Amino acid sequence: MGRKKAERSPVTDLPLETGSQRKAREGHLPSAAGGRLKLYDPESDNVKRFLDLLAERMSRPLAVSMTACVHCGLCIEACHYALARPSDPTMSPVYKADQIRRIFKRHRDWTGRIVPWWVHARTPAGDADLNRLKNIVFGTCSGCRRCTLNCPMGVDTAALIRFTRGLLADLGIVPEGVFNVSRDEWETGNQMAVTERDYLETLGWIKEELEAELGGPVEVPVDRPDGDFMYTINPREVKFDPRSLSQAVKIFHLAGEKWTLPRWGWDQTNFGLFSGDERLGAYIARNLYEAAVRLRAKRIVISECGHGYRSTRWEGYNWASYDQDIPSESVVVTLKRYLEEGRIRVDPSRNPEPVTFHDSCNIARSGDLTEEPRWVLRRVCANFREMHPNRAENYCCTGGGGLLSMAEYKPLRMEVAKIKVDQLKAAGAKLVCTMCHNCVDGLTDIIKHYRLDLKVVQILELVEKAMV
Ligand code: SF4
Ligand code: SF4
Repeated sequence: MGRKKAERSPVTDLPLETGSQRKAREGHLPSAAGGRLKLYDPESDNVKRFLDLLAERMSRPLAVSMTACVHCGLCIEACHYALARPSDPTMSPVYKADQIRRIFKRHRDWTGRIVPWWVHARTPAGDADLNRLKNIVFGTCSGCRRCTLNCPMGVDTAALIRFTRGLLADLGIVPEGVFNVSRDEWETGNQMAVTERDYLETLGWIKEELEAELGGPVEVPVDRPDGDFMYTINPREVKFDPRSLSQAVKIFHLAGEKWTLPRWGWDQTNFGLFSGDERLGAYIARNLYEAAVRLRAKRIVISECGHGYRSTRWEGYNWASYDQDIPSESVVVTLKRYLEEGRIRVDPSRNPEPVTFHDSCNIARSGDLTEEPRWVLRRVCANFREMHPNRAENYCCTGGGGLLSMAEYKPLRMEVAKIKVDQLKAAGAKLVCTMCHNCVDGLTDIIKHYRLDLKVVQILELVEKAMV
């Protein structure tokens, strides 16, 4: 009789693990029955790969953030998670960063090699520890960078969190939503898996609606070369809410703009910023930059999106190692220029309700664009008021860092949103305006959850409404 053929998985068609193989593997994992816990299982592919990647991807700025923390605790006051749960130390930025810091110290820093107990150096014991790390870096941080700006030692906690996310993403140890959105972006070039057909159909529909409204031909140009700018958008504007794209088209039309959308490379959002996967970041950014070169656009205009603005205008060039001299700007800067040049005229009395402005973390704190939106809002709204704190000190909408795609962390997100809710209530407005599609969804979630008497609007919408 020959040897029994190994059973194969009906899904992967790979041989299934035998009982003794499973026992051998499980023997290295922490046992719920009190078995001896090995600190580092050299056979664990994931831990080994994690440590290899940690070494490969370490950079000087990251190493500084790994070592410079003096545990003063000042960043705790900056984080909406820690403020909302003052008695839970695991919500503090310093605790979150310490989870990767202690692994770095054990393997890359002399202190952790010589006196590991002194610096709390540790190694993940296996997949369970990596999974726990996943829940900390994806589930308890929105990557808002408020702690980073408030650290006297210059420790970039948000960068450490994103770095750890990237290591885990390489192993596939990510929340399901992060996996799905990343896959969609790789497969279709945009994070909402919008097909080219749907994209072009939506543009055609917007054109028809505007022509009916304005009573004449309206162009929605695609791949038209030599324009003044190439407009890039968030896929949400095609898939869920084409109003903001329609408002932009109408304003460009009335301003007499020579512009275009690209057929490919139109998604200015970039999930690589959230997942920490810089190869994905590079792929999406390169698509967009190459489209601008192909169309000989004089500039790239980025629609109202926070992480898209940060990725496209700042980070994408580094991820893609891409050098070019085509400038980029937010559409809000374009609107300001139209108003300054008198290309559009507005009447602020058309927006009479009290309106406040929510600064997107990725635009204000990480993009340094704070005054232009206020300049525009003061011209198109009759009753603009600040919320406090604002600009680079504003609190996150709670939906940053890709958290909107991670349903499993929503209960905690809603709980810590009370910091933002207090801020919104104190502003006493009826409308909260933001120049970020992600913040629209983040704020809408908390407005619903806390039953606030508020509506979220965007700048394009208010400008379009004020136009005469
Ligand atoms: S990250 Fe900065 S603010 Fe926070 S504990 Fe460390 S040194 Fe202090
Ligand atoms: S980046 Fe924002 S959410 Fe994350 S730890 Fe820092 S303050 Fe908290």
